[in-house]
Amino acid sequence: MSSETNEKVLLELIKVSKQFGGIQAVEDFDLKIQKGDLHCLIGPNGAGKTTVFKLITGQYPVSSGRIKFKGKDITSMSASKRARIGMSIKMQVPGVFEELTLRENIRIAAGNYTNAADLDAETERLIKLVKLDTIGNPPVRNMSHGQQQWLEIAMALSSNPEILLLDEPAAGMGPEETAFTADLVNELNAQGLTILFIEHDMDFVKQIARNVTVLHYGKKFAEGTVEEISNNPAVKQIYLGNV
Ligand code: ATP
Repeated sequence: MSSETNEKVLLELIKVSKQFGGIQAVEDFDLKIQKGDLHCLIGPNGAGKTTVFKLITGQYPVSSGRIKFKGKDITSMSASKRARIGMSIKMQVPGVFEELTLRENIRIAAGNYTNAADLDAETERLIKLVKLDTIGNPPVRNMSHGQQQWLEIAMALSSNPEILLLDEPAAGMGPEETAFTADLVNELNAQGLTILFIEHDMDFVKQIARNVTVLHYGKKFAEGTVEEISNNPAVKQIYLGNV
């Protein structure tokens, strides 16, 4: 591979495996995410998608293999250090404080990365980024499911990441909220943010993904553009047919 192509690779997994006791959750998995990509990881239940995310962010150590970010080997780096050098994740499990307001939640997240003097401006920037600047400052418990998810995206963006990992960003959303989420993800990507997301909803994948990697029993099953993957008969059989 030419060095020019290598420079465009932001994140690379090289033969990454993860075992939990006797369970081989991920096996010899290779993945390359180019800078600026909007890349989706799909696969049937239990395929290993969430485990791959946790290996990337350092929540789990790999059993074997290597992970590189911005050309640097980060295989043994702590999760907090990975966050500091440009990785951020929004998991499916809610990470917001429901009794606090929209802005209070964002200030808590942004406070880890921003000086007190700049915190108000940064809070407003993040709220605008996810288009929640029109709803006032409600307690989070009064916000819709979708609004809470977008708030979490804003919180994940507070570290100014170079790559954002989203675990099923449209889960539990109706058609309008799903469309809003698709627009939001597309806009963030258009602003230069590299995004890797897990998704089950193929319509959503088609609306936003550029490239898709399919996991099956912890191994890479297929990879290609969203058109190639959605027209791949073997993928349809293992995954799309089951949806
Ligand atoms: P889903 O689409 O259902 O969320 P997934 O593709 O994200 O599934 P994982 O959650 O990564 O799959 O799970 C992959 C395999 O590893 C499964 O067999 C799962 O039971 C197992 N597994 C995941 N996490 C753990 C853990 N902490 N301890 C033991 N086994 C685990």
